[in-house]
Amino acid sequence: MQDLDSRLDALHHQLSSIPEAVQLAELTTRRAEVDGAVRDLRVEVDDLTAEQKRADADVEQVKARRVRDQAMIDAGSIADPKALQRMLGELESLQRRITDLEDTEIEVMERLETAQASLADRSRELAEIDASTTTLEAARADKAADLVRSLGEVEQQRATLAAELPDDLLALYTKLREQKGGVGAAALRRKECTGCRLTLNPSDLARITAAPTDEVIRCEECSRILVRTGESGL
Ligand SMILES: [Zn+2]
Repeated sequence: MQDLDSRLDALHHQLSSIPEAVQLAELTTRRAEVDGAVRDLRVEVDDLTAEQKRADADVEQVKARRVRDQAMIDAGSIADPKALQRMLGELESLQRRITDLEDTEIEVMERLETAQASLADRSRELAEIDASTTTLEAARADKAADLVRSLGEVEQQRATLAAELPDDLLALYTKLREQKGGVGAAALRRKECTGCRLTLNPSDLARITAAPTDEVIRCEECSRILVRTGESGL
């Protein structure tokens, strides 16, 4: 009975500490971080895409005005020399403005490319995490199913054994198991109680040897039920 209960305790412990479950918990935390980064990067890419379009439109607008002014000059439609001078001055400032706007456009494009590359990296990482999660979940489910099957088998054996034990002995064992850290009965091995490691003195050993085999023997030190075996040293 004690062996079966120890196996049940071990199986319950294994079921609650499957390694894949621990790894899955870590992956869940990591996924939340990466997912947050992906969302932030998507917003950044969208913002920069809009900014790039604006910068592009700004350049086109100024270029169109320069073409218009140049056309007026080329057509000779500005007769007044002062007006022509102003127009040439404006053309120069338009060219400077175009250069500035194009610099801005290039800078925005570079930032957009960097953000797009980061987004691709992080998205790939997210996909890898999801793939690992699927694999680990399957492994965890397999292990859990094995453990639950083993638990069912051992519980069945325990129920069969419990039905054969006298009620008072089962009650005593159950009470001791609760009080003594899950171990209610211990084998007497080489004159020693395996529950508390006490070596029994010769008079106790003589008393146990003389006791009928169906008498319940208790350890003097730890009170556990002592189970006599072929290795007890009696
Ligand atoms: Zn003991």
